[in-house]
Amino acid sequence: MPASDSIYNFTCSHVTQPANSGREGADTVTRLSQRVAQVKPSATIAVSMKAAELKAAGRDIISLGMGEPDFDTPDHIKQAAVEAIARGQTKYTAVDGTAELKKAIIAKFQRDNELEYTPSQILVSSGAKQSIYNLLQALIDPGDEVLIPAPYWVSYPDMVRLAGGAPVALNTDIECEFRITPAQLNASITDRTKLLLFNAPSNPTGKGYTRRQLEALGEVLLEYPRLVVCTDDIYEHIWWGEEAFATLGQVCPALKDRLVVVNGVSKAYAMTGWRIGYAAGPEALIKEMRKIQGQSTSNPCSISQAAATAALDGDQQCVADMCQAFRERHDYLVDALNDLPGVRCARGDGAFYAFADCREAIGALDLADDVALGEHLLESVGVATVPGTAFGAPGHLRLSFACGLDTLKQAVERLGSALSQG
Ligand code: PMP
Ligand code: GLU
Repeated sequence: MPASDSIYNFTCSHVTQPANSGREGADTVTRLSQRVAQVKPSATIAVSMKAAELKAAGRDIISLGMGEPDFDTPDHIKQAAVEAIARGQTKYTAVDGTAELKKAIIAKFQRDNELEYTPSQILVSSGAKQSIYNLLQALIDPGDEVLIPAPYWVSYPDMVRLAGGAPVALNTDIECEFRITPAQLNASITDRTKLLLFNAPSNPTGKGYTRRQLEALGEVLLEYPRLVVCTDDIYEHIWWGEEAFATLGQVCPALKDRLVVVNGVSKAYAMTGWRIGYAAGPEALIKEMRKIQGQSTSNPCSISQAAATAALDGDQQCVADMCQAFRERHDYLVDALNDLPGVRCARGDGAFYAFADCREAIGALDLADDVALGEHLLESVGVATVPGTAFGAPGHLRLSFACGLDTLKQAVERLGSALSQG
């Protein structure tokens, strides 16, 4: 397969800017913006789409690519959407979300995070992805630096670049359990640092932080009053860390006037397709984020907002049940990966990803890197994974365990046969 056709090709496609003017008949496609030329496609989406394509073409593929719960959306949530359609909740809503959903979000923050918000401090968007995008568009100027602990979710650096900013990775590895330290954070802050983008439990490592660890990071952040902090808590409810989940704003309330908390219903309630996420933060910033949304996509889907209200206000047992299943899969997969030749995998505290250090396996198979390993596994045994390079951590693979235990066991068997050939 030529490198440029590979789904694992993470380099930006080269876009030529023609010297001639539009009048001279330049090819439209070659006249794209400089901005888009700096952005690469989402690797998680690319791998999942490729796996689905191969499956549709008759190949026997197990996809551990996409981070998407395999569970169906619970019935009481679907029912709320059906009722919303029946009563005609099918029109535009307020750009920033319905009063009912905002009320449910405010109650959620009180219940789960001991955080108090008013409706004007909340913005509902079409997924947490859009919440983060709005924030970056509202906050970042060219040259501003955004601190991102690495490995990171694939979309963060590209969204920062789209806003003209410079992503700055705070590297971590398996030895430090994929957690940044207060000293590292302190050393990374410069005059140009505008934002810290913090995600725990993390996509892709599953690692979270204890209250004590969060407090120590908070102490550093309090030294820099101009720095804005965003915590992406989207995996909050998929959590089995030793202590109960805590978010930075809860542990360090003094940060609240420059803190944006992002969350959503995609992961906790198996509602990825409904596209509802939300941000809570200082009113002045939320207002500007709402302005961006009002000039781009307007309100998120009215029917999905009714469903999300039911999710947040309803019985939370479904969340605990799904979390229990994810935990069983995590325990199985991490042990099984550690039994494979040349693979090391740390336990996570939550989310539904195992992030495996495959450097030895790559060497034993005489492959160039994690991208080549990902291709090899897809080609030879039909298992789709996402290479660590996409998350800023070459030499690793991310395996999503958002699929049944039987599927995971089959995948591990196949990985075993591919890796034993070294
Ligand atoms: N943050 C992280 C860390 C994620 O993994 C995802 C998954 N897509 C999102 C945000 C966005 O989720 P959504 O847009 O589906 O709410
Ligand atoms: N967040 C999920 C993942 O990392 C869904 C895909 C995406 O939006 O990136 O796989």
